[in-house]
This record gives sequence, C-alpha cells and structure tokens, in this order.
Amino acid sequence: MINYLNTQDISGKKVIARFDFNVPLKDGQITDSTRIDLSLDTIKLLIEKGASKITMMSHLGRPKGKFDKKLSLEPVAKYIADKLGIEVVLTESATDRGIKTLLSLPTTKLVLLENLRFHPEETSNDSEFSRKLASYGDVYLNDAFGTSHRKHSSVHGIVSHFDHKNVIAGLLIEKELIALNTVLESPKKPFVGIIGGAKVSDKIKIIEQLLGPVDHLIIGGAMAYPFLNAKGYSIGKSLCSEEDVILAKKILSSKNHAKIILPSDHIIAENPDSAPEFSEDENIVDEMMGLDIGEKTVAKFSDICSKAKTILWNGPMGLFEIEDFSRGTFSIAKSLSENTECFSLVGGGDSVSAVNKSGLSRYMGHISTGGGASLEYIEQGTLVGVQALKHGLK
Ligand code: AMP
Repeated sequence: MINYLNTQDISGKKVIARFDFNVPLKDGQITDSTRIDLSLDTIKLLIEKGASKITMMSHLGRPKGKFDKKLSLEPVAKYIADKLGIEVVLTESATDRGIKTLLSLPTTKLVLLENLRFHPEETSNDSEFSRKLASYGDVYLNDAFGTSHRKHSSVHGIVSHFDHKNVIAGLLIEKELIALNTVLESPKKPFVGIIGGAKVSDKIKIIEQLLGPVDHLIIGGAMAYPFLNAKGYSIGKSLCSEEDVILAKKILSSKNHAKIILPSDHIIAENPDSAPEFSEDENIVDEMMGLDIGEKTVAKFSDICSKAKTILWNGPMGLFEIEDFSRGTFSIAKSLSENTECFSLVGGGDSVSAVNKSGLSRYMGHISTGGGASLEYIEQGTLVGVQALKHGLK
C-alpha cells in the first residue's frame, strides 16, 4: 500500500524529498520550467502540513559523478524561492558536512541539496550514500516519477532506512499512477494506442504489450517505415534499420497484428531541409524520405481518435520540430483535444513537447512527466521506485 501525502500527518517532521528538477538550461537559464512547476504543489502541501524542514533533492543532466558548475541546481533554487517567496538554501554538495547543522537552525525551512549526480554513488545505489541522504529526514517522500524507474540511491536505496509508514508518495506520483492505472487496468472502449517517434527497438515491448488490450494501434512517425517496409512497400531514404524491419516483421506476424493501422500516404522530402512534397500512397520513391504522415492518413487517424474513449499516445507522427513536417502531429493533438468523451494520456518526452507546442495540453486527460518511466510502467506494470513506495525495503 502506498502512503500518499494527502493522507499523512507530517507535522513537525523533517522531510527528505526526491523531486525531478531535471530541467533544460541554456546559459544558466531555465528554458522550460514544467518539471519544477509540477512539483510546487507538493512542496506547498508539505509546508501547509507543518513539516519542520524540507530537504529537496534532484539530479540535473548527466555530470557523470563529477562536479560541473554548468549543472549546478543554483537556477532551480532561485526559481523555487521566487515562486514560493521563501528562501531556499542550496548546499555545496549532497554530502556537505554543514547540512546537519543547517537542518538544526530554526530559521531554515527549505533546503536544496546540490545535484545528486555529482556523486557517482547516486547512480550506483551505494548504501553509505543512501544512508547519508536518509539521515536528513524523519520521513522520505518521492515525487520524482520521471526517475522512479531507476534503481538509484535517492529513489531506491534510501527507502531501506525508513519504516514503511514513513515512506510517502507526493502529489505528482499519485496523479501519474492514477492516470496510468486508469488506462492500463480499466480502459473505456474503444481503446486506441498511438505510437510514433523514431525507434522501433526502443518501443517494441510497448507495442507487444498494447496489442492485447487496444482495439486499434496506430503507428506513425518514423516508426511506421520498418512496418511498411516489412509489408513490401518502398520507403525510399526514410529512417529505418534492418534490425527494425526484423522486429516489425515479428510484430506483423503476431496474433493481434490486424489491430495495427499504418499510414496510407506521407509528406516527403529529399532531406529535412528541403521543400515538402506528397506521396500518392504508401510508397515513397527512392531519393525521398518520409517526414510526416500525409493528408489521407491524418483523416484516417483522426477518425479513429474521434471515436475512442481511451487513448494512449507516445511519440510524434513526424519530424514535428520542423514546421513543414509538424502538421500530422499537431492534427492528432487537435483530434484528441476535440474528443471530450475520451481520456487521453500523453507520455514520452517528444510527444509531450509536441502537445505543449500545439498549445492544446490543457485538453488532454493527463500528460506524463516521465517519458522512460511511463513507457516502463506500461511494459512492466510497475517501477522500482513505485515498488519501494508500495512495500518499503526495510
Ligand atoms: P522518439 O524519441 O522515439 O519518440 O522519437 C522522437 C523523434 O522522432 C522526434 O525528434 C521526431 O522529430 C522524430 N521523428 C518522428 N518522425 C520522423 C520521421 N518521419 N523522420 C525523421 N524523424 C522523425
């Protein structure tokens, strides 16, 4: 059983809390604050519920176990302090000797540990490092859904130092689990999966997993070319590896293959920088590459989406970062937004940024913050970090 923050008494307790503040930075400035913004409600609730100290921790980027000034959490500390109007003290490191003293000062409320991944022990789930992190709190809270598929100290090892009653899930994890479980355990029918993006091998398990419960599985984006190739269509210079065609053939010969729906036409170009042209049907001529789904396909996919009651969407329908090849992805976002009878769950980094870019994110049932984590949850039905929250490790 997971202890959710909403129902827990943490008054007067010191909380050590794992968040996902892994935001993109450019020249020391946060370029997209979504991940921090989504954590603010949990931080506010911890304050409201009377936590005596809140020590926040997160990773940022991939510093590979070494200090890197460019990946300091300093801009994050400043952003949270500005948003909440409370001082946030950033420590020199996650194992700084002064932290214990800092936590005994009556004035300090919010502490942010410096980037966890400046320490190689974080990713190796080192027991001494986990023990050190655990020593900063009476209670451990995890709200880092996007990192909860990783067996790292701050998500996994740390839990072994707390009784299960003192292991709590934050508001964001609660929301993510409710949305994912709605789709996976009791999807209203018709249930439609939409898988796009670029690499079949990364998503093969999710396709196999979804083919059972869904009524239709739409495959678009570069994911579609290995399937079209496996069916004997010509795909020109489109992204596609031999390995992916082998995987696609395997799926196309599996029990539920008839549920798979592929593009019937494409927007093509000589390369991503050249002008867009259209294919007449599934086939793409030799010197061209498919970069978006075509008009007939948009209509076909949108029609299926308009009748769905549950949709799970992962991966864009084309090279949406370039305007000429973004129409397919944005049209799918639009048809999801117009189907008010449907619960749509959008997961995976690129589909999330596509939906955000389309300006339609507020019409989606749920937008998952964790790309890899939501995929793994769909494949395996749980995550290491979620298991630790459920059962504890002590
Ligand atoms: P993934 O991480 O597998 O979801 O892949 C997302 C990436 O796939 C995005 O950067 C898209 O631009 C890219 N993508 C989607 N469709 C195509 C395509 N037809 N050709 C090239 N890249 C594509």
